[in-house]
Amino acid sequence: MAVTNGASLRRLPLADESALSYEHPLLGTVLRTPGLSLAATSLDRLLTWGLTNSLWMFPMGTSCCAIELMAAAASRVDLDRMGTILRGTPRQTDVMIIAGTITVKMAPRVKTLWEQMPEPKWAIAMGSCAISGDFYRNLYSVVPGVDTILPVDVYVPGCPPNPEALMHGLLRLQEKIRLARAGKRTAKEYAPATLDLTRPSIARWLDPARDPSLELQQEDAALHATEAPPIEATPTAEPPARLVEVPVESRPLDAMLRDDFGVTELPTDAAPIVPVERHVALAQRLRDLGYAQLVYVVATHFAEKTGAKAQAERFEVACALRTVGKGSRLAAWRVVLAPGASIPTLVGLFAGADWQEREQYDLVGVRFEGHPDLRRIMMPETWVGHPLRKDYASDTACPPWR
Ligand code: SF4
Repeated sequence: MAVTNGASLRRLPLADESALSYEHPLLGTVLRTPGLSLAATSLDRLLTWGLTNSLWMFPMGTSCCAIELMAAAASRVDLDRMGTILRGTPRQTDVMIIAGTITVKMAPRVKTLWEQMPEPKWAIAMGSCAISGDFYRNLYSVVPGVDTILPVDVYVPGCPPNPEALMHGLLRLQEKIRLARAGKRTAKEYAPATLDLTRPSIARWLDPARDPSLELQQEDAALHATEAPPIEATPTAEPPARLVEVPVESRPLDAMLRDDFGVTELPTDAAPIVPVERHVALAQRLRDLGYAQLVYVVATHFAEKTGAKAQAERFEVACALRTVGKGSRLAAWRVVLAPGASIPTLVGLFAGADWQEREQYDLVGVRFEGHPDLRRIMMPETWVGHPLRKDYASDTACPPWR
């Protein structure tokens, strides 16, 4: 297989045969013993045949590439004919197929699963995301190539690679295993040449620049991934009580917003701004008027600007409710918050606000007063900062994973 790297055309080595060949200490004895060499050779061939044709796979599928992996295992391509089956446990598998984007939150789990696979074991990075992070490699949450956390034997390029490409990858792996068992020690394969263009902040597995202590750091982080205490956890508070009486409302929504909820402007191209102290009361009123479904709670950070378009730093929380059934209507509003200010939770009114508010807290840093479980939901608990704030550098390092 040839890949281009700039102007030159390079051929990827099928296996690293430049390394010193390995000779078992008993090989000489076996070869000198009459008859034994023949038996040993035949037996070894039989075992190698068995090994290479029973590579059970652990499907580390995380995104779109995993669909191709599933297709590869289905009847049209039928990987079973190579003796390759997918298993649901790492403890009974030989090959981990990493098919999809690996995020910083997943990385400790991937590492843990890899460590649980018995030796000898191999890894195939399937698709650009697993190989290098692809489009997302500079994103705060993505591991820029799975070979920064475990040794990869075969890279299957593509976005996504089709099932036939995966099958070709397995054939390459079989050949590497055959070479290794024939005494030609094959080194773990380094990233394809195209990856020279994308240097991750963490050196890849076989990169001479890789810090040897990184492996221990990653193992340690994987071991304690779920033990970190939540940061900035808020005390549990009682959710606001529900209204039991349904008010009769004959006014249009606009008039109600102006009269009862302190709305001064009703822009045509944006949701009206409601004072933060009226936020829950408005949600409650709307719910009782039939707006029974919470559509979204989304926070946005606006950085301070100077000059002609000067603006103070602020946060906006946009919410929307809708009626259900035919002719559904939508009611949306915004709440503006100064840095450090908080907003009351809607969890007491809408159960679905729970995870939506947690997400906004996690990614933007808006605090929801009275939320019963205000913890991170997307990022690891140990994450520092809120990645969707305007002042957050999107390629911020997150050792030991990126
Ligand atoms: S390489 Fe392409 S198809 Fe595969 S997970 Fe990434 S974006 Fe999806």
